[in-house]
Amino acid sequence: LKDFDVSKIRADFPILKREVNGKPLVYLDNGATTQKPQSVIDAITHYYSDMNSNVHRGVHYLSQISTDAFEVTRRNIQSFINAKHEHEVIITTGTTHSINIIATCFGKANIGSGDEIIISAMEHHSNIVPWQMICEEKGAILKVIPMNEQGELDIEAYKGLFSEKTKIASFTYVSNSLGTINPIKEMIAIAHEHHVPVLLDAAQAIQHIKIDVQDLDVDFLAFSGHKMYGPTGIGVLYGKEDALNAIPPYQGGGDMIKEVTFEKTTYNELPFKFEAGTPNIEAGICLNAAIEYINAIGIDEIASYEEELLTYAQEQLETVPGIRFIGTAAHKSSVISFLIDGTHPYDVGVILDKLGIAVRTGHHCAQPVMNKFGIPGTIRASFALYNTKQEVDTLVAGLKRAANMLV
Ligand code: PMP
Repeated sequence: LKDFDVSKIRADFPILKREVNGKPLVYLDNGATTQKPQSVIDAITHYYSDMNSNVHRGVHYLSQISTDAFEVTRRNIQSFINAKHEHEVIITTGTTHSINIIATCFGKANIGSGDEIIISAMEHHSNIVPWQMICEEKGAILKVIPMNEQGELDIEAYKGLFSEKTKIASFTYVSNSLGTINPIKEMIAIAHEHHVPVLLDAAQAIQHIKIDVQDLDVDFLAFSGHKMYGPTGIGVLYGKEDALNAIPPYQGGGDMIKEVTFEKTTYNELPFKFEAGTPNIEAGICLNAAIEYINAIGIDEIASYEEELLTYAQEQLETVPGIRFIGTAAHKSSVISFLIDGTHPYDVGVILDKLGIAVRTGHHCAQPVMNKFGIPGTIRASFALYNTKQEVDTLVAGLKRAANMLV
């Protein structure tokens, strides 16, 4: 890719210059969280040095500039995901918070005893447990889209899960443990044929794939700032205006009200109805710097580069003796999960760490996926826009060394 200058990109991320255990850091745990460019780090300092004030409250200057900056983020998220209205973008603390809002509030309004909720076999715990909690509370039933040996969802089986009782479907765009990209546009259309709304977990997609909520016609979308080069403690819940208006608020408190008396409280309009209390102002404002960073490079350019890197990594990893890939879907994004025969993922992870290479080992908050493959966990390398082919080579050399030591 001629216009994608990875060395220039790497220079924007100060942490990539550091060493770990005396070796240059090779950061391949981007599925867990991404590193931050200098512009995001500077935005944090700038916020506290020049702007710090509460939002949506004061008439004074600082409150106005911090409110304006917070709302700029909302507008830029709106255009980033192509939402129809700015007020369809709810600022949350992350994907987990966003999913819990919908499971709880949609559940309160629409789910009753014997109703059914569809999720998939490859969900992160945060897209399983909130639904189990509402099922338990309401006496509803969780139905699970099965997955094949490649780690792809069975779409025919999915079609068969719908009934008159199905109230909502919630699934991931990209699997954090396997890297599978699901055919979500088709899956959303199938749900809509049954008049069932869809929540899409975009935690592992938003930083890798262009998302257009109107084109997807998705009802709700959840993602986290920290996986897209932004700060932690901030995330997004997108919802169609009508869908968000049709459900009750999540938490009560300041900002989410119109009028409060002891007899009755009326709720504020979108988006504030779902934003009770002081938000994470700093992270909200600084998330904009992350979005601008992605926009300056271009999400499509990022996607092409990462695809090339994933293909290279896949080819090179095949040369590691005893490697067994978990999740071999035809369409994948930025994640490779694997085991090495005769070794435990944890031991391999420790040896890689000694070599300055950061990978994730374990169940990746997706225990049902591990159960499906009959394994306790995997080694996961997950890539971002600043990773390089040389880093892949370092990983492969490290794995060969680990295999030599352990097998
Ligand atoms: N869903 C998926 C697919 C994820 O990968 C993650 C984070 N690992 C989450 C949900 C939860 O995100 P957060 O911890 O930022 O709320």
